[in-house]
Amino acid sequence: MALLETEALVLRTYNFGEADKIVVCLSQSAGLIRGVAKGCRKLRSRFGAALEPFTLAKITYYSKENQELVSLNQVEILESHFDLSSDPDTLAGLAYMADLVTEFSPPYEANETLYRMVKACLAAVSESQADLQVILRYFEVWLLRLEGYLPDIRRCGDCHREFSEAEPAFVSVDSVFRCRECSRGVGRSLSVSLQSQLRATQKLAPYPFAKASHEVPAGVHREMAELTHQLIGRVLEKQPRLKSTLR
Ligand SMILES: [Zn+2]
Repeated sequence: MALLETEALVLRTYNFGEADKIVVCLSQSAGLIRGVAKGCRKLRSRFGAALEPFTLAKITYYSKENQELVSLNQVEILESHFDLSSDPDTLAGLAYMADLVTEFSPPYEANETLYRMVKACLAAVSESQADLQVILRYFEVWLLRLEGYLPDIRRCGDCHREFSEAEPAFVSVDSVFRCRECSRGVGRSLSVSLQSQLRATQKLAPYPFAKASHEVPAGVHREMAELTHQLIGRVLEKQPRLKSTLR
């Protein structure tokens, strides 16, 4: 049995037994972790408020080989996000992020880029709750990309020609982006503005992306939500248990 230490974001907790909780967190060095926090529902628990969802913490835990649940030993708050819990829309948005991460990422597989991305999105929401929806779109695009579900947004999936800045792309049910000729008019057309938004997610961190998006018309935001939800929907079709996650 090894005692391990990592930074982690608490995603969700479930009551377990009389006094314990199961804690799901995304960790920096071991990916998605499910751990038991023993006695954490007792009045004087050593875990205190550290297990509130979206708390950034340093955790230490015992891990046994071939055991899915680790045992949390210590959780030390680095940053709590109590400020976010008073707004129901923000809470629902963060819960949605937590659900998607939980469902999309394989357990115990470290993904430092995913960890940094989720942490940066959380920080961006904390900085500007009014930009929640735009940050969620950013998060969806990156989650799709990091888990290998985002199609190539720069070139046609059939003829591999790079899209020019001025031509719409087309995406059909197979989630492949195609040029006008190759798509033969089949599928949803993606406006030039939407494509430029998609490219911006790849160049900017979430907070600057949200700020730059203030210049983008509402119709483009709607178009982006339709696209990300279509892409996520396709992943969910293959993994039906994820279905309840999409909002
Ligand atoms: Zn083509």
